[in-house]
Amino acid sequence: MAFIDARQIPDGTELTPDLAIIGGGPAGITLALALANTPIKMLLLESGGVEFDAATQALYAGEESGVRYIPLDATRLRYLGGGTNHWGGWSRPLDRIDFERRDWLPFSGWPFPREEIEPYFARAQHLIEAGPFLYDKLANGVLPGPLLPLGKGGLYNSFFQFSQWHGNPQHLPTAFGHRYSEQLKRIPNLQLMLHANVTGLRLAKDVRWLDHLDVATLSGRKFTVKPRHTVLACGGIENARLLLASNDVIAAGVGNENDLVGRYFADHAIPRDNATVVVFGGEIAGYYKTTKDAQGAHFRATISPTEAFRRDRQLLGALITVEQHVGLDALGQAAVETASGALGINASEAHAYSLGVGLELTPDPDRRVMLTSARDALGMPRLKLSMTIADDDLARYREVLNELGRQLLASKTGMLRIDRHSRADWLSVMDWGNHHLGTTRMHDDAKQGVVDANSQVHGLANLFVAGSSVFPTYSASNPTLNLVALTLRLADHLKGVFR
Ligand SMILES: Cc1cc2nc3c(=O)[nH]c(=O)nc-3n(C[C@H](O)[C@H](O)[C@H](O)COP(=O)(O)OP(=O)(O)OC[C@H]3O[C@@H](n4cnc5c(N)ncnc54)[C@H](O)[C@@H]3O)c2cc1C
Repeated sequence: MAFIDARQIPDGTELTPDLAIIGGGPAGITLALALANTPIKMLLLESGGVEFDAATQALYAGEESGVRYIPLDATRLRYLGGGTNHWGGWSRPLDRIDFERRDWLPFSGWPFPREEIEPYFARAQHLIEAGPFLYDKLANGVLPGPLLPLGKGGLYNSFFQFSQWHGNPQHLPTAFGHRYSEQLKRIPNLQLMLHANVTGLRLAKDVRWLDHLDVATLSGRKFTVKPRHTVLACGGIENARLLLASNDVIAAGVGNENDLVGRYFADHAIPRDNATVVVFGGEIAGYYKTTKDAQGAHFRATISPTEAFRRDRQLLGALITVEQHVGLDALGQAAVETASGALGINASEAHAYSLGVGLELTPDPDRRVMLTSARDALGMPRLKLSMTIADDDLARYREVLNELGRQLLASKTGMLRIDRHSRADWLSVMDWGNHHLGTTRMHDDAKQGVVDANSQVHGLANLFVAGSSVFPTYSASNPTLNLVALTLRLADHLKGVFR
């Protein structure tokens, strides 16, 4: 069925699907695809159209405070396909340790182990079009060039794989809206409505049930949707905004009796050019510097702390990448000569590279989004993000770099210099992943999480949340593959709910 335009729906209409999905990003689209051809009548409400539109995008504007962050209307996209309209396609599954509760890491742990989402990785990988699910298994096959010898120690060679939309001549990453539009139109039990902004989640009198959704268009139409069940899939920032702004019955907002909604926000900190690595034996293999193809995968190498090293040294996730070829200053040259001389190595073919990294942050309740008194064109309160990064997070990464330097020397492979020292220095090269995590965190205990292990909002039997806002501990891995897998798991749960 063709997509429906909400601007054509008469004012005051009440629609009654079995399931409302709010948001047509990868989470919402995955859910619709996974529930295709079931008896569940779905209505997917998407704020934008099929292409970018400035007036809709402006609904995302907000404020940022604290550590410099990307403006809230630049770090996401508000039209069908959501963030995948300009994502990088970098993918890597969460590690086993990411799910563990660690005594040394406050607020850590998921309510289930990695095994719970493993059965969904293959389908998620297929949906994001990232080739065979190999990742670290790439090291066991034929690669175009040698792995960097790291010897024994806390760091190992790991791999990202990349989404590559095969219907697209440039093989850009899969943009879910464009890629799956035709498939979505063919789903008999789905209506997909564009230009439909959900502006309120309205509770039944007993506050244990979501009664209906308020929907508005920028052209001024207003109508309601009264579904049996609803999945909020508006992205890691907007999920919190909609819950917080729905404060007509419970002043703190829906699902926010314990003041958790919007807190524990995280992204991956990406300090660029933070260290210089020298490889004694010549050029590093090209797949460390850029993406390459092997074993059916489009991939790039990264250097990661092992899970054992992270447990032992109380470290968070860090995925180190080689950024660019650099020249060495006189001091650097002298250091290479001294070190290679002491090791009895010929370093005449040495090459130097700057390193970048994607860092996991410590969960922090004060890193959060909150409503402000400013309103958008639909009358919704705008958000303010309070961004933090702990000195400890930077210190933990320095420890990872120290270990990498130790391993390079011990294996006579190369050497490393850390180039950032003060906090200001680190912050001056800080970039962010545009990965919005944690604002509706998952926990079995309602006092510690907004949603339970099934992604159901605690205390509200018919409201669920999809996307990386439910990640209680974040990992350094990119979120989209993982949130798609988690959404497939949610689809299976919903099939049971509707049975
Ligand atoms: C520049 C950039 C690069 C990125 N690179 C990577 C990468 O390399 N790897 C990776 O894993 N991730 C990457 N990401 C993150 C990735 O895009 C997100 O993880 C992913 O899009 C989140 O999916 P989602 O469906 O939860 O939310 P979104 O993609 O944000 O989709 C939410 C959808 O909900 C709609 N919506 C919002 N509010 C409402 C409302 N009130 N009513 C109705 N609809 C609404 C929006 O229009 C949107 O379509 C990147 C993001 C950006 C911005």
